[in-house]
Amino acid sequence: GGAAEPPPKLVLQLERLANVPPEKAGPLQRYAATIQSQRGDYNGKVLSIRQDDLRTLAVIYDQSPSVLTEQLISWGVLDSDARRAVAHEDS
Ligand code: C2E
Ligand code: C2E
Ligand code: C2E
Repeated sequence: GGAAEPPPKLVLQLERLANVPPEKAGPLQRYAATIQSQRGDYNGKVLSIRQDDLRTLAVIYDQSPSVLTEQLISWGVLDSDARRAVAHEDS
């Protein structure tokens, strides 16, 4: 896409966090819970997060943003549209 294309909204499907393998779920669950707590945003089924938060999570998981995004999509935590958020990362 062109430079004028807006980035996709990154919307975590919180109920799908249960699909994340137990050995990987902890940091993501704590990160989402921290954002919910800071916002006072409880009881939501979804949580919109910052583009920067995806990069931070990639550092936490020691993976490239694009690999982490593919995993989050495969677990149903992110929509496939989230690929556009990292489409230009690896070049
Ligand atoms: P902050 O970053 O200083 O933001 C202060 C307030 O500005 C937020 O209060 C919110 O009302 C507004 N705000 C800042 N950025 C955005 C944005 O991109 N969209 C919207 N709709 N509003 C924005 P709030 O929501 O009570 O959050 C309090 C603090 O919690 C924030 O202070 C930040 O430190 C943290 N926080 C909340 N949500 C996130 C998040 O998604 N990612 C990160 N990294 N921090 C967050
Ligand atoms: P949208 O962004 O498409 O969000 C649709 C609905 O998804 C929201 O309806 C809300 O029920 C849920 N949702 C999305 N992100 C979050 C989240 O981080 N936490 C929680 N608890 N729920 C979330 P809602 O609240 O009636 O908002 C309707 C529309 O109003 C939103 O559509 C958006 O276009 C606008 N809106 C609401 N809050 C904000 C905001 O903080 N910033 C901006 N720019 N627009 C907002
Ligand atoms: P949004 O509220 O529709 O904001 C879209 C984009 O506008 C944000 O993308 C950010 O680049 C910019 N923006 C909006 N409000 C502020 C602000 O107060 N300060 C700054 N510096 N930029 C702002 P971003 O950061 O990727 O966030 C994506 C979505 O995540 C936001 O959509 C909102 O739904 C949610 N979000 C992010 N940070 C916060 C926060 O602190 N509090 C709340 N309640 N929601 C947040």
